[in-house]
Amino acid sequence: MHTQLRENLDRVREMIADAAKASGRVADAVCLIGVTKYVDIETTQALYELGCRDLGESRPQLLWSKSEAMADLSPRWHMIGHLQRNKTKRTIPLLSVLHSGDSLRLLKAANEDWPHDQPLPALLEVNISGDTAKHGFLPTEIAPALRQIAALSRLKIVGLMGMASLEGGRDQAQKDFAALRELRDKLRKDCPDEISLDELSMGMSHDFDLAIREGATMVRVGSTLFEGIDGGR
Ligand SMILES: *Cc1c(COP(=O)(O)O)cnc(C)c1O
Repeated sequence: MHTQLRENLDRVREMIADAAKASGRVADAVCLIGVTKYVDIETTQALYELGCRDLGESRPQLLWSKSEAMADLSPRWHMIGHLQRNKTKRTIPLLSVLHSGDSLRLLKAANEDWPHDQPLPALLEVNISGDTAKHGFLPTEIAPALRQIAALSRLKIVGLMGMASLEGGRDQAQKDFAALRELRDKLRKDCPDEISLDELSMGMSHDFDLAIREGATMVRVGSTLFEGIDGGR
């Protein structure tokens, strides 16, 4: 298993380096978040031991159990999926980064439930495609909310997170990523000092190379890392 996992990880890292270079950056400018929601604790740990120290989960329950099982390794946990209000108390303290800051209500809850001295780095999730079934701020909702968000002093807003439309393939994905970057550039012009928008969390297995070309600084990659591996839960 380790050989296959190592090969997959090497290939993803190579693609990240190539795409970063193509956008005039070094590979280190892009953080790989290994999304481990498909695999068991053993496989998650194997990925960590191969050097992938940033791990992402979209379901709170999985994050709880893995974080407990891997407590002595202390990976950096990234919450990338929707977090219900009644799960923040148990989830937020475990995080290194909250990607799915998808509403003012959730951000307020995260602010309340963060117990550590250093503020929790968090991103504002944007519903780029405007699909009503999706979570996230609509692009037009962010600017009017920025002052209220900036007042949440236990959070440090570091950027925007988004997902490409399910339909439309890579062409549409590229447009969605460009739209997120353009939104970021526009918001920056009138942004409270407390908020930084340097990070762009965008790109998954099938489109992370495009996302990097469009300026992603964090990519969330799952299935490609686990191809050919039987690590299901
Ligand atoms: C599952 C998931 C990913 C990773 O998706 P893959 O296509 O398996 O790489 C990235 N981001 C979010 C929010 C996810 O839920």
